[in-house]
Amino acid sequence: MSALAAEHGAINLGPGFPDEEGPEAVVCAAAEALRGGQNQYPPLTGVPELRRAVADAKWRFWNIAVDPDSEVVVTSGATKAITASLMALIDPGDEVVLIEPLYDTYLPVVRMLGAVPRLVRLEPPRWDLPRAALAAAFGPRTKLMLLNTPHNLTSKVFTTAELAFLADLLQHHDAYAVCDEVYEHITFDGWRHIPLMSLPGMRDRCVRIGSAGKTFSLTGWKVGYVTAPAPLARTIAKAHQLLTFTTAPNLQRAVSLGLALPDDYFTGLTEGLAAKRDRLARGLADLGFDVLEARGSNFVTADIRPLGIALDDAAFCRWLTETAKVTAIPVSAFYADPATAPRHLVRFAFCKRDATIDEALCRLATTLAEGRSEALTGRAARA
Ligand code: PMP
Repeated sequence: MSALAAEHGAINLGPGFPDEEGPEAVVCAAAEALRGGQNQYPPLTGVPELRRAVADAKWRFWNIAVDPDSEVVVTSGATKAITASLMALIDPGDEVVLIEPLYDTYLPVVRMLGAVPRLVRLEPPRWDLPRAALAAAFGPRTKLMLLNTPHNLTSKVFTTAELAFLADLLQHHDAYAVCDEVYEHITFDGWRHIPLMSLPGMRDRCVRIGSAGKTFSLTGWKVGYVTAPAPLARTIAKAHQLLTFTTAPNLQRAVSLGLALPDDYFTGLTEGLAAKRDRLARGLADLGFDVLEARGSNFVTADIRPLGIALDDAAFCRWLTETAKVTAIPVSAFYADPATAPRHLVRFAFCKRDATIDEALCRLATTLAEGRSEALTGRAARA
């Protein structure tokens, strides 16, 4: 969709990257580190300052005590953290429990490692935890589950009760959890992120993954961090070494400063994004979309059926990009089998300047008005 957006000069509300800079102090720290002769390979597990800052942040925000020397691994973004963690844990033939809709790197990596995916679906519009299906997905060959909370696309924030249910399953089946928590600091309306690792019995079963890209609106930097019990962290570090060796040292130093920013920064991030969510969600609702609740992350999902345009999600997103010059992502792309996935939902990123959101809404308003009449004549359906 991004390639299509570029081709048509569309406002790209597809991927979750902000169109504003991250915090000035963090960007300046990177520039200083860059000019300060700190440009050679750093230690494999990350520079000590960042490992210490990650450990401090785990304690400060989530009350999880972590040893910076043996339980933190800095990675080139959460993406490599996920792949390295799966490489470290999975043997061919293992079963991996995955929750659909799912972030796009999970399934290919699980399959590449020779594991058997066991997929369980959250159903729109409430995205409640399908407890019976989850219990059925776990079995004697389950090695791990991949859990993403706050959840990219449904914007679901898993509750303590839901996490406790998952913790029981993990203990019962002696399995691990790889927890993708890149949106740990982005929750709204009083919803609060709870790391599965903080639940009783979960400390040694969980690999926790964070991303400086999401926390500091610096997605191009690709600095991520894993927190895991020491034996797992060691193996994950080895896997990461094979993937990428090390991560840019100057950016690591700047992120260590970012993680120590005062609380104002983190509350400001959330409040700013909540206002953007409201702006986009309100605008989409005014245009006739049925907007689903978004409790966290950078995304709102909207039901296109009330618009009365006879296109499925993928065709709708293509049509919108080409005609309105606004790009969204079809939700069916987040399923292993798009043919059986919901085909009436599209995802918009709201981590954009107000002016970008307003311009996108304005373009949508014009095109949807035309689209409705075109749809009646069948022209949109052929687009
Ligand atoms: N996990 C989820 C759920 C994401 O949404 C993203 C980014 N879109 C990532 C991982 C990747 O993060 P990073 O850019 O740090 O690799």
